Amino acid sequence: MTYKEWFESHASKHTVIMKKLTHLSDAAVIEYFRFENMVINEPTFCLLYRSNKKCHDTKELNCYWCACPYFRFNDEGIKQVDEKTLYSLCSIESKSGGQFINGTTIHQDCTGCLIPHNEETLKKHFHRNWRITMEKAPCD
Ligand code: SF4
Repeated sequence: MTYKEWFESHASKHTVIMKKLTHLSDAAVIEYFRFENMVINEPTFCLLYRSNKKCHDTKELNCYWCACPYFRFNDEGIKQVDEKTLYSLCSIESKSGGQFINGTTIHQDCTGCLIPHNEETLKKHFHRNWRITMEKAPCD
């Protein structure tokens, strides 16, 4: 599956969930997307839910912003860097991010970054249309 295919599939899942939550306030929607609730009520939203596993080893994990609005990916490659193809990057160059470099490919490594899972950031830039947040990422 390409990243674009994954993104479209994830956007569809998000839309289906949000249609069920129209009666909830923004704050309640954010609470709904907490890992502990999602595992029980939205088991197909993430493959890791099957094994009750988080994508990051952290106590509080909110899944609303998966994928991160700062993540940029191009299945054809963004640019060439030292004879390697850069496929993804962090648009805010988070200090917690890194790179996976393997042979001729470079990918963004987000394993150490919690920015998209932080509820304070999410509350500040919350939008009920996930796609709009993903396409117009806030910069602060
Ligand atoms: S490093 Fe953090 S802010 Fe940057 S794309 Fe990855 S998760 Fe998002």
